[in-house]
Amino acid sequence: MSDVKPLIQLENITKRFKSLTAVNGVNLAVHPGEKLVIIGPSGSGKSTLLRSINFLEEIDEGTIRFEGNEVGYIRRHGKLHLDKQPVICALRAEIGMVFQHFHLFPHMTVLGNVMEGPLTVQKKSAAESRETALAMLAKVGLTDKKDVYPATLSGGQKQRVAIARAIAMRPKLMLFDEPTSALDPELVGEVFDTIHALADEGMTMIIVTHHMGFARELADRVIFMEKGNFLAEGTPREFFAEGMNNERIQSFLNRIL
Ligand code: ADP
Ligand code: MG
Repeated sequence: MSDVKPLIQLENITKRFKSLTAVNGVNLAVHPGEKLVIIGPSGSGKSTLLRSINFLEEIDEGTIRFEGNEVGYIRRHGKLHLDKQPVICALRAEIGMVFQHFHLFPHMTVLGNVMEGPLTVQKKSAAESRETALAMLAKVGLTDKKDVYPATLSGGQKQRVAIARAIAMRPKLMLFDEPTSALDPELVGEVFDTIHALADEGMTMIIVTHHMGFARELADRVIFMEKGNFLAEGTPREFFAEGMNNERIQSFLNRIL
């Protein structure tokens, strides 16, 4: 893969909240089509890292490259500042994110939720936005729910709508932050199947999850994060069969498996 340009590349990313360093000088390159799973204890900085990639957090140090170009920040008096509209908007459209707690618009129908990005962010026509939204709803198997409001849906269905909404923007990279953690166990499978189908289409993704079965099945590469640092990285086999011969990873896996 080394001759292919990374889709996204993080160099020495640091994010602090006052005296707390949530992400501590992280380096990461994700190549087109790659499926990366990040695991690690609560509070280790996984969400902050994903949010930094999507410019929802303003980093303190480091460089973010998208398709080889440095993006998102301007440096002023030695400090980084998030480059404001419209650059950030354009970048965010390239990077979709799905959260643990769906964040659907409650006052809009399912179709309205999925149309919103193409319509208001990408300024597409209503007809084109609707067509895109219907195609995405078909992809996640929720065509028959297009006219209902989110409150009437199960958690699994809500998350599938959230996925449809994200991919309606045709992102090049998808970030999933514990997409099944808020779901009843019997609803986890349908969301995983939806993510799996996207993966099979070649979508590049970074997934934070505690579901090791899913990680094992989907990941090309697994990273273990602890206290803002990448402690280890390897193939699923190296992680789950051997625990990377690392005591802390083994004890983490023993606790959650
Ligand atoms: P994880 O997703 O791995 O559980 P987070 O990225 O949510 O970890 O959090 C990493 C650390 O940063 C934690 O100590 C958390 O309390 C802290 N943190 C996260 N967001 C904020 C915030 N907005 N303000 C202050 N501290 C935060
Ligand atoms: Mg988190």
